[in-house]
Amino acid sequence: MSSQWILKEEIDEILDCYDQANLKIATIGSHSALQISKGARDENFKSLAICSEAVSWFYEQFDFIDEVISVRNYKDILKKRFQEELIQDNCILIPHGSFVEYVGAEAILTKLKVPCFGNRITLEWESDREKEMSWFEEARIKVPKVFKKPEEIDRLAIVKFFGAKGGKGYFLVRNKDEFYEMKKFIKKANSYLIQEYVIGTRFYPHYFYSKILDRLELLGMDIRYESNVDALGRIPPRISRSLELRESYSITGNIPVVARESLLPKILEIGYNLLNASRKLFSFGIIGPFCIEMICTEHLELVCFEISSRIVAGTNFYMDGSPYSSLYFDEPMSCGRRICREINLALSSGRLKEVIF
Ligand code: AMP
Repeated sequence: MSSQWILKEEIDEILDCYDQANLKIATIGSHSALQISKGARDENFKSLAICSEAVSWFYEQFDFIDEVISVRNYKDILKKRFQEELIQDNCILIPHGSFVEYVGAEAILTKLKVPCFGNRITLEWESDREKEMSWFEEARIKVPKVFKKPEEIDRLAIVKFFGAKGGKGYFLVRNKDEFYEMKKFIKKANSYLIQEYVIGTRFYPHYFYSKILDRLELLGMDIRYESNVDALGRIPPRISRSLELRESYSITGNIPVVARESLLPKILEIGYNLLNASRKLFSFGIIGPFCIEMICTEHLELVCFEISSRIVAGTNFYMDGSPYSSLYFDEPMSCGRRICREINLALSSGRLKEVIF
């Protein structure tokens, strides 16, 4: 990515002009916007949902959303005038998965001057697979083996496409011959990653690093509900063979899960390791929510393959809190509300700039 990143100092200057008693929590109407807006209401902030014309009616139904703005294209957020209006309105943007996908990590880093919750630099690290792997390496976390070329494949492997939407079109192969047979599914423009397929159970813990309390919280946990791989088991092999069904990992929903308690210290330790590594690798490190996709093998080893350093959609199941969030809070605490609570904690201790970039 280019070097003309927006500097933290520029955002700080903008924040200096904000009326801090009247902050508004804003996000794009998709992904986890309901949870974020509800959390804003619970924490006594006004909220704004920026929606496509097609879905604004949906978000307008909810009383806890104070304002809905329709846009033709989500990239309109980047227009100078639009940004000025958001700044005028004392908006704090909450980036989520669709936000990053629609606006683009690079545009957020180089063009978006509206203050955002968290550390926007993390977006560059989560969206670049090589950087992500070096982050795992720095944290000394176990990751699946990567095969640099198809000829190296010596076990079950998953082929992932860069920029694929939520696992769409990924496939499994056992050797180079199967890879070349499946190659027809790889369009020229697609670059791909061949990674060892780890057999085990999935756990996608939702972490929240509170800069203000200097505490890493485990707020919840989910697994993804993926089509069609989660549907294939419902069709007997004698039929699926003749249908020539091919696996895909398109995310369609999320399923709640809890891990056996003896895994929790390991899961939290992995979170701490990634947090500490983030501070070594880039300025400010992780602030706020992040999620690590991991698989637990039959030997109870946790192997990590993906990190999202922002709110993930798997938190949507826990709009009223999760079994884990109740260990920290005596009230329903969604991840969206936790973000807004952090802003409140920062405001009351005069440390807003520490959680906003
Ligand atoms: P990703 O795009 O990396 O989040 O992967 C999408 C989905 O593919 C995951 O939710 C898993 O179901 C599956 N998956 C990805 N990588 C692996 C792996 N190395 N081993 C087993 N399953 C994986």
